[in-house]
Amino acid sequence: MTRTHCPYCALQCGMEIGPGLEISPSTDVPADGPGALCQKGWTAGELLTNGARLTTPLLNGKPASWEAALDHVAARLSAIRAEHGPDAVAVFGGGGLTNEKAYQLGKFARVALGTSQIDYNGRFCMSSAAAATIRAFGMDRGLPFPITDLDDADVVLLAGANVAETMPPFVRRLSGARLIVVDPRRTPTARLAWLHLQPTPGTDLALALGLLHLAVADDLVDADYVEARTTGFDAVRTSLASWWPERVERVTGVPVHRMRQAVRALAAAGNAYILTGRGAEQHAKGTDTVTAFVNLALALGLPGRYGSGYGCLTGQGNGQGGREHGQKADQLPGYRRIDDPAAREHVAGVWGVRPEDLPGAGRSAYELLDALGTPEGPRALLLFGSNPVVSAPASARIGGRIAGLDLLVVADVVRSETAALADVVLPVTQWAEEDGTMTNLEGRVLLRRRAVAPPAGVRSDLEVLAGLAARLGHRFGTEPAAVFDELRRAGAGGVADYTGITYERIAAGTALHWPCPSAGHPGTPRPFLDRFAHPDGRARFVPVEHRPAAEEPDEDYPVRLTTGRVLAHYQSGAQTRRIASLVRAAPEPFVELHPDLAAQLGIAAGDLVRVSSRRGESRVVARISDAIRRDTVFMPFHWEGANRLTNPALDPVSGMPEFKVCAVRLERDS
Ligand code: SF4
Repeated sequence: MTRTHCPYCALQCGMEIGPGLEISPSTDVPADGPGALCQKGWTAGELLTNGARLTTPLLNGKPASWEAALDHVAARLSAIRAEHGPDAVAVFGGGGLTNEKAYQLGKFARVALGTSQIDYNGRFCMSSAAAATIRAFGMDRGLPFPITDLDDADVVLLAGANVAETMPPFVRRLSGARLIVVDPRRTPTARLAWLHLQPTPGTDLALALGLLHLAVADDLVDADYVEARTTGFDAVRTSLASWWPERVERVTGVPVHRMRQAVRALAAAGNAYILTGRGAEQHAKGTDTVTAFVNLALALGLPGRYGSGYGCLTGQGNGQGGREHGQKADQLPGYRRIDDPAAREHVAGVWGVRPEDLPGAGRSAYELLDALGTPEGPRALLLFGSNPVVSAPASARIGGRIAGLDLLVVADVVRSETAALADVVLPVTQWAEEDGTMTNLEGRVLLRRRAVAPPAGVRSDLEVLAGLAARLGHRFGTEPAAVFDELRRAGAGGVADYTGITYERIAAGTALHWPCPSAGHPGTPRPFLDRFAHPDGRARFVPVEHRPAAEEPDEDYPVRLTTGRVLAHYQSGAQTRRIASLVRAAPEPFVELHPDLAAQLGIAAGDLVRVSSRRGESRVVARISDAIRRDTVFMPFHWEGANRLTNPALDPVSGMPEFKVCAVRLERDS
């Protein structure tokens, strides 16, 4: 049996996999006791032998040798760069790639291609929480405490996180706490709640302002903590004046007495946590929404206190590590800003280039995708571990942009919807076929071990990058352990410092959370206990204002749409829609609507419904449920369809699109 970790979400459940691909949970993350997996984890072995697996490169749709495919890609990239400049080629990565791949992708873009045009799908995941926590704490580390700390929580407020479906084993960590769930749907998580607050989609920010207003009005603020550990509270208190509770009730639909119940429970608890997920974050005001919840947590004295805190529940398997090593448009390894002269000099030294030769910041993910094939935008795209034809907002528009490229190269394990548009498809290895590290939602670095040989004909992403780099005149390593060592050097001294983290230490069972700045360092599971990461050691309150969603319902599109996940599927579904038992559990996309709205529209359960927005339309089956608000419908985003409708209005700080609310019209399809 080989000890490794699940290929899917940021919980990175420990598992053991045998030679016959039999899977069992291990007593490792997140269990630290009897192991647990969700149905996606139990069936992950089927990914390895799936009949849809690609094993031969495809060049213009026809099987080709690796040499021919890589020669073609390198020649086309060189020609496009020579004609249009380095920014005419772009790279798009993913939050499921290992740390080694994320690092190598950033280096490949900036050194081998010389392009600034690199970003990744994590921008669509937790970028708003990242931006907000860097602003508040000086550092973004999803959960700045081990998840086992939650075992002792008395009260946990979950804002926009449906963990009972997205990461079921996490729920056991909450079993001792009073749960307050903020969600427009009565999700399986909300059904576990002591208190469910059901705001209108797009009003979480107003709700957080209302909760903080009540905390101030009812004298629940931890004044000693605010004085000792923070700055900026007075400006926030002043900004709350116009968010009196009755106004918040009008905006959000959440009754004042329920808000008061929530804030009093949080304030009275010995140990309390506020955790945000995509429901609060995937908005054009996502950074400010998270900031409002962080302000509330700070006012109650939670962050940086043992047994309490604020945290972001990162979604993708390596959503945390994916944002630390340089595949983000504005960052270099070590989670350092690309415009920081000291970071540029250090990383350039490790890469053997001059700092002035490193490109600057590029476009954020949606801006990059939306520029593809346009006169000002990139003409070639290399895409690793992502499926934007399904996962990007306004996906029909993005599909059109991608189809207009001079060159699209997709490295993937299956022929995803995006790979189906590619000029060149490169079949690559996956989780249990290769070594690599992942950094889970609590900033703990985990080792995924190679357990089985990959099928003949596939190569690792690292080998693909090395093969292309060689053709472009650069030497890149292919061994994960060696790449990890280089990543540690490149990130040394940065925020996410991995210097003391080695394959050997992880394999020996040591739980290592970054920062871990030297050999033998024990890691930092709770980085804010003594001080926050700003130079003065204090957390910052930041005043924020609620504003309406970028698109409100009107006569033409009178209903709000919100999107999310179902238990059986993961992200764009490229993997899970190919696992028979998961398809049986959740075979098709659907729209969930309230019985009153269904009656008003003449829609019955099982009807085919045309859902349309200003971006496009989608035909899906109706599910009738009183778990959803009367003014809102829900669609899961694991199939093409939901994101044809979503609004690409972007958060000005994080670049996060407004996935979680837009205006739609529903009609029964005759
Ligand atoms: Fe895998 Fe996440 Fe399920 Fe755990 S909760 S088994 S990591 S998908």
